[in-house]
Amino acid sequence: MAEMFYDDDADLSVIQGRKVAIIGYGSQGHAHALNLRDSGVDVRVGLREGSKSAAKAEAEGLRVVPVAQAAQEADVIMILAPDQVQRILYREDIEPNLQPGDAIFFAHGFNIRFGYITPPEGVDVAMVAPKAPGHTVRREFVDGRGIPDIVAVEQDATGKAWDLALSYAKAIGGTRAGVIKTTFTEETETDLFGEQSVLCGGMSHLVQAGFEVLTEAGYQPEIAYFEVLHELKLIVDLMWEGGIAKQRWSISDTAEYGDYVSGPRVIDAGVKERMQGVLADIQSGAFAERFIADQDAGAPEFLKLREAEAGHPIEATGKELRSHFSWSGSRDEDYVEGSAA
Ligand code: NDP
Ligand code: MG
Ligand code: MG
Repeated sequence: MAEMFYDDDADLSVIQGRKVAIIGYGSQGHAHALNLRDSGVDVRVGLREGSKSAAKAEAEGLRVVPVAQAAQEADVIMILAPDQVQRILYREDIEPNLQPGDAIFFAHGFNIRFGYITPPEGVDVAMVAPKAPGHTVRREFVDGRGIPDIVAVEQDATGKAWDLALSYAKAIGGTRAGVIKTTFTEETETDLFGEQSVLCGGMSHLVQAGFEVLTEAGYQPEIAYFEVLHELKLIVDLMWEGGIAKQRWSISDTAEYGDYVSGPRVIDAGVKERMQGVLADIQSGAFAERFIADQDAGAPEFLKLREAEAGHPIEATGKELRSHFSWSGSRDEDYVEGSAA
């Protein structure tokens, strides 16, 4: 059984005795900064010159300073800018301001695991990774609950990195739900694999393929949308509550039998073999290299793919349909329906 930690295992005063810099004020950044502040922690937000996020942070009463100044003032630096810019921010603004005994924190192990950031020896290196989008991390905290975190220590220079990481997790609400111990390598490789082959890559393309099959066979796109996308949430909620077993218990016998006989026709051994190929490219660093090389070139492949995928016919059908039903509407303020950003 994985090692788990709860509120009683963590001492909030550890992080309350430090000065924390949150670098970036996006999905995770705003949630960490606000939850820490509400837990009585000394927080400043580090942003680049002319940052669009600065006004939002300031509207919450947070102090916003340039990244280098935040790193200089703080002794715990949590990097919550996008993964592909972290190594540049680190090299230019953070590394020159690190002191022995400081701690550098991440919410995803990408840059450490693939060697894009190598902190000096005297510095603690830890990860506190909430297992939810930032807006959920904040919402749950405000409601008195928390999102589970996974926590890792890559470098324990002070001998106290673990207590510090657990204390940080408590301050953002993680130990209310429960914290699981992992390593940077395990978190990075499983996170990338999960999002690429199941959660995001697998699911998005499964839904698109199902929609294409139905509409190409002449069925109405609106009906296809309900059958392959809208109902997905109801199925996933059941899986989330009680596993695949609860989902199969709740659906009709017809659906359950169809699951057993047709599921393996679609998701066959070839799918698993290709998933192993995806995992191999993650482990070898090939995926990371491709992603970073594209980003460094101005993200031509990424932007082209984003545009092409946003143009899939299921999006127009869904957008139109959702505008007619009362259940529509994202609860995440920053998302603008129909935008690609
Ligand atoms: P976001 O894309 O939401 O971060 C945006 C923030 O980063 C903005 O404040 C933006 O400021 C700032 N930023 C962007 N580019 C730069 C730059 N070049 N220099 C300085 N600041 C910049 O990030 P996420 O919250 O999605 O991800 C942060 C980390 O958390 C990542 O390591 C990610 O893997 C991890 N994570 C994310 C999860 C999520 O829910 N999204 C879940 C778990 C982990 P500006 O206004 O200036 O553009
Ligand atoms: Mg991820
Ligand atoms: Mg049905």
